[in-house]
Amino acid sequence: MQHVILFDAMLHLDSPTEAARWCSAQRDRGSTIGFVPTMGALHSGHLSLVTRACNENTACCASIFINPLQFEDAEDYDAYPRDTESDLALLKSHGCDMVFMGSLHQFFPEISDINEIKTLSAGPHGSGLEGQFRPGHLDGVTTIVERLFRTVGAARVYFGEKDFQQTLVVSDLARDMGYPEVVVCPTVREDSGLALSSRNVLLSTDEKTRAQRIYPALLAARDAWSSGERDPGRLSAIMMECLSLDGLVVEYAEVRDPGHWISEPQATPLEHGQALIAVRIGSVRLIDNLRLDQ
Ligand code: AMP
Repeated sequence: MQHVILFDAMLHLDSPTEAARWCSAQRDRGSTIGFVPTMGALHSGHLSLVTRACNENTACCASIFINPLQFEDAEDYDAYPRDTESDLALLKSHGCDMVFMGSLHQFFPEISDINEIKTLSAGPHGSGLEGQFRPGHLDGVTTIVERLFRTVGAARVYFGEKDFQQTLVVSDLARDMGYPEVVVCPTVREDSGLALSSRNVLLSTDEKTRAQRIYPALLAARDAWSSGERDPGRLSAIMMECLSLDGLVVEYAEVRDPGHWISEPQATPLEHGQALIAVRIGSVRLIDNLRLDQ
């Protein structure tokens, strides 16, 4: 599909009402909108989503919003990397037509205290793993993503497979809302295999070396799967062994059947497998995952 640059300069809007108006005008003139929600501190992983949204739609919109509802811990929220100037330049140079940077208050003008906001439930895919280790996180994601979907009215939204459980949750939300189409994009990695993440800049050199053990652990699970291993407990143990390292705390290292999500680790042999890992290295939490049966 031909991507049309609608403005010489990328439009930057802060108000959901104005953003909704711009999006509605695009739809009225027959444009399809591809939308990329982000929390900023953009890297090549985010930009791969923007490029794809530009290529597959006639207008591309991104949002930069560090959503307080998805942080359980105020310190983590405060420490989250921010670089708006660089983000805007990158979005513009990658063909984004409009960037939307609303605040929580603009999304919920009727509410003065964040604790009064009634969050939506992330649904069945919100339980277990991220749901267990970051209680409320995926509910917070769902609450904001629902507002963003309604504001933008996109034909397609682009999410990274790196946040695998999030892709399941937002796909449920989009199905319940009746739109948009959710496009899940592959994880972009450094040469070392480490998945790009905005949080990587918070790692010291030593911590980054430890983080580079995550991908080999996922590959070890995939090798075992290729050799016929289907026992979730043994696959988990293989990953745990690769991750056994001072200064690296494993929250989970599990293989799950993505088509049969349950809140507890599966006890019976798997038919399909997605290996998922979450670790803490110092104050930084990282997640990654890999499909084993493709
Ligand atoms: P975030 O800003 O971390 O909320 O991420 C915004 C979007 O970019 C989400 O859909 C993420 O899954 C996606 N994303 C983050 N890191 C990567 C990566 N390394 N490769 C591809 N997509 C990514």
